[in-house]
Amino acid sequence: QLKQMLTKFMRADYNWPQASSAERFTLEEVLQGIRANQFEPFFQPKVEFKTGQIVGAEALARWIHPEQGVISPYGFIPLLEQSGEIDKLTFLILEKSVAACRSFHDRGCIFSISINLSPNSLDDTTLADKITQVVRNAGIDPRYIILEITESAAMTDVAHALENLVRLGMNGFILSIDDYGTGYSSMQQLTRIAFSELKIDQSFVKDFADNEALRIMVKSSIDMAHELQIKIVAEGVETQQEWDLLKNMGCDMAQGYLIAKPMNLISFVEFCMGYRLR
Ligand code: C2E
Ligand code: CA
Ligand code: CA
Ligand code: CA
Repeated sequence: QLKQMLTKFMRADYNWPQASSAERFTLEEVLQGIRANQFEPFFQPKVEFKTGQIVGAEALARWIHPEQGVISPYGFIPLLEQSGEIDKLTFLILEKSVAACRSFHDRGCIFSISINLSPNSLDDTTLADKITQVVRNAGIDPRYIILEITESAAMTDVAHALENLVRLGMNGFILSIDDYGTGYSSMQQLTRIAFSELKIDQSFVKDFADNEALRIMVKSSIDMAHELQIKIVAEGVETQQEWDLLKNMGCDMAQGYLIAKPMNLISFVEFCMGYRLR
């Protein structure tokens, strides 16, 4: 039964559910939207179990479409990745996120911001220097920027990916393994990298309250991470019951609708102000 479950989680198409018909765009439309500055990061808070404090936020790309409203990443990221244009979005999100990070820090809120890196981007060996430059230009210490990397079959050039990640680590960035548990074997090669965070995929947290096998897998991931001195974040925490179970298992941080959905910058700032008063 456990093996069956593992196979389910390792399905190659897991990450990209079909976008709804309302969200189908052409590459040209997406690029046009990028040129028109219609993309921005939404922020989802990350909360520490021990203190209940917000310790950071994940930046999640949104297209604020003039006619169709807020478009989810599933409507544009696959197009950008397949066409090799994803870096345009990566740097747009990075620049807006470090600017936000800067304004938090100026107001005394020392948050980390997590950025999603596409595995395709890691093929380009100049990536590490480009990212470092953007962050330094904004006057942000790279230790406040967490780079989330998904294990993926798309990581074709493992040598280049390793080179980028080693350099980013040396430059002081925090490296995080995204969607842990849904993965691909290429990540085995990445055990040489100093990852300091691991995010358990939400498919593990979903329904785990009444599924003992899932709970065992999550608990052993937490214990393994801790043995490796790695912090562990649970994604997709939606209920108080899930929160309580994860907290008792020793999980470090949570992200999910129980705390908040991803929000635009203004709503995020308002949320944080209200949250502190609680
Ligand atoms: P991800 O990195 O695994 O991000 C977590 C996703 O789970 C987000 O979906 C978030 O809105 C959603 N989520 C958070 N809490 C909950 C919860 O409690 N329940 C449920 N059901 N969902 C929750 P989103 O924002 O639609 O992003 C989807 C994916 O798109 C991300 O998955 C990430 O892989 C990708 N993505 C988003 N922004 C970027 C970006 O700037 N660059 C790249 N390369 N990929 C991005
Ligand atoms: Ca994902
Ligand atoms: Ca992520
Ligand atoms: Ca994830």
